[in-house]
Amino acid sequence: MQPQQQETGGDRPRFETLAIHAGQEPDTVTGAVVPPIYQVSTYKQDGVGGLRGGYEYSRSANPTRTALEENLAALEGGRRGLAFASGLAAEDCLLRALLRPGDHLVIPDDAYGGTFRLIARVVERWGVSWTVARTSDPEQVRAALRPETRLVWVETPSNPLLGITDLALVADLARSAGARLVVDNTFASPYLQQPLALGADVVVHSTTKYMGGHSDVVGGALVTADEALGEELAFHQNAMGGVAGPFDAWLVLRGIKTLAVRMDRHCANAARVAEMLAAHPRVTRVYYPGLESHPGHETAAKQMRGFGGMVSFRVAGGEEAAVEVCDRTRVFTLGESLGGVESLIEHPGRMTHASAAGTALEVPADLVRLSVGIEAAEDLLDDLGRALGALG
Ligand SMILES: *Cc1c(COP(=O)(O)O)cnc(C)c1O
Repeated sequence: MQPQQQETGGDRPRFETLAIHAGQEPDTVTGAVVPPIYQVSTYKQDGVGGLRGGYEYSRSANPTRTALEENLAALEGGRRGLAFASGLAAEDCLLRALLRPGDHLVIPDDAYGGTFRLIARVVERWGVSWTVARTSDPEQVRAALRPETRLVWVETPSNPLLGITDLALVADLARSAGARLVVDNTFASPYLQQPLALGADVVVHSTTKYMGGHSDVVGGALVTADEALGEELAFHQNAMGGVAGPFDAWLVLRGIKTLAVRMDRHCANAARVAEMLAAHPRVTRVYYPGLESHPGHETAAKQMRGFGGMVSFRVAGGEEAAVEVCDRTRVFTLGESLGGVESLIEHPGRMTHASAAGTALEVPADLVRLSVGIEAAEDLLDDLGRALGALG
């Protein structure tokens, strides 16, 4: 099945259909309706160089991974999808494929902590420089661009402050500066937002999160609509070797089948949680792009189909009070990560974003981040209400 945009009708399948079928024709030998887990490293050749279906060695290609890669390309409206062992393995491949010593990149001021660590502590050692910009403010992006800028990196919604960047606008800015736009689409998922259609060159995912959706696999992906760039990235994927294994690829594919219905429920539950928190006397600020008070609300409404399942908020009483709330919930599990069916709560300052302490990416100490799951909304509201109500 070919990739397509959301709006096109006719006989081309829509998102929900692609999620279940793209890259997954029933097995030609057995008719198995889902791709088998090809737990295999090498393939018999029919005479030297006589490959069956192009398979030679599973770092280069494996049929279960191919199914996932074709599916990812279809869901993002791209031409090439690549699946990796983790989101950071995907990012590392992308950065090393596209940057050379002397190059510069623009990174967001509330990037995923691991992305910032990879760029600031690893990639920088190879002679690459970077500038932090609040990408939700186009003027800051414009000011950060230099003649040697090769990449502009954007996360929208961002982590953990749920900032919204206007993708079409920043894509124009990057293009006119001769730089490529990379969008980490992990928080939105392709169901809610399709950056390639808005001008992005590459989409990055931690498939560990909403794509997998069940907190049972770590994975990453790159998707592009540019075939030459896709070839370049595929060369690096094979040369560097951080590929998704067959079982991991299969788990992500299985998760993707229910992505659309899960995201609908994540969005609905998060909206109720955000409204409840916004009205709570012990909460000083709520970050959720679905709230009209959010500065990125209109941009989010324009470029997303829903506002997602992530909500952050600040607690009156500072860091200790925020940590106490994290310790008190029962339905929200205290843990890092996000995007699974179960609700999670965490303290970014001490957990996911601890490595950003003392940098431009440091997060407020009284911040709590929620990954709102798909449990009954009433149970989530009761749980948070109890945890906040118990504060001394
Ligand atoms: C988790 C995450 C990553 C890193 O992915 P891993 O699968 O943990 O390596 C990158 N970006 C965002 C937004 C994330 O949430």
